Amino acid sequence: MCDLKGQYRRIKNEIDAAIQEVIDSTAFIKGKEVGLFQDELASYLGVKHVIGCANGTDALQIALMAHNLKPGDEVITPDFTFIATVEVVALLGLTPILVDVDPNTFTIDIQKLEEAITPRTKAIIPVHLFGQCANMDEVMRLAQKHNLYVIEDTAQALGANYYHSDGRVAKAGTLGTIGTTSFFPSKNLGCYGDGGALFTNDDDLAAEIRSIANHGMKVRYHHDRIGVNSRLDTIQAAILRVKLKHLDSFNKARIEAANAYDAMLKPCSKIITPARAKWSSHIFHQYTLKLVNVDRNKLQKELAAKGIPTMVYYPIPLHKQKAFEPDRKFNLGRSFQVSDSLSGSVISLPMHTELTDDVIKYIADNFLKVLKE
Ligand SMILES: *Cc1c(COP(=O)(O)O)cnc(C)c1O
Repeated sequence: MCDLKGQYRRIKNEIDAAIQEVIDSTAFIKGKEVGLFQDELASYLGVKHVIGCANGTDALQIALMAHNLKPGDEVITPDFTFIATVEVVALLGLTPILVDVDPNTFTIDIQKLEEAITPRTKAIIPVHLFGQCANMDEVMRLAQKHNLYVIEDTAQALGANYYHSDGRVAKAGTLGTIGTTSFFPSKNLGCYGDGGALFTNDDDLAAEIRSIANHGMKVRYHHDRIGVNSRLDTIQAAILRVKLKHLDSFNKARIEAANAYDAMLKPCSKIITPARAKWSSHIFHQYTLKLVNVDRNKLQKELAAKGIPTMVYYPIPLHKQKAFEPDRKFNLGRSFQVSDSLSGSVISLPMHTELTDDVIKYIADNFLKVLKE
């Protein structure tokens, strides 16, 4: 699904030198690369503050903690996402309110989002799923109208552009109150272990986030609140500094691979290729198709026999997960028709920065062949 080895080989000299420099310095925690990477990512994104942390799930948790939400406060998230988005809501004793997604972009359905807002709603977490932004103009309009925080889960879309309806362009993750991301190795900007970050333009929030991620302290050994220990390692920051310079070209390679898949697969009536939202670039963290009347299990097995891996993101929508059974009462009466249908019909093909024309052709040809049989 992903070719981290091939990518490493291309940038090996730069990466090895960066890692060695950290080892030579032995500044493994809070070394200078952490600050440098945060500054470089902030300037790439056009955001005032970037604060590193240990992973993308922590980033979401810290973002919620920074807003001082209380048990019983409602946080609205899409039903069709990786569990981390919603897990942290429940973990903090907040009430997750799940909302169905748009059948074409797989991002939060704006009309259903509006219907889900109550006087207890405090925040919305839109997810920029598979590499493409949610409809942020509409999310922000509703957030302003109802005075809600917006935490953008940008784990799958770092580097994507958002095109505002008035013509302005901004990077995904810089539009809400706080943006969060993950540097898990297979993400568009991945490190060589775990890592994550938060983004904000708000100075006070940035100070609060730094304090929460550092045991709730602003002055050493003065703990103002209960925090967590969540840091981006210096070695990971050094790797990320190298990879950030390649991010646009990495994302371009993904877009080109997606376009090549599209051209070959679009004519097939059993496949619906990924839709592009008019408000966002799509940087293809995943290349996810919808199948029409296809036995997906059988298809996956037959492709695997030809050496072609496929994955289903996500096979069970969150409202059906056992872990959220206690929260189910909050989501009764809401329809999840789209996420139910997507979980049964989507399939993702190999997508990464090292796909060659030959490999794409091999995958697409065999995909079509197996569908015809
Ligand atoms: C990967 C991911 C996360 C969590 O990131 P980790 O670094 O693995 O904790 C959160 N949200 C989404 C949408 C993700 O894809």
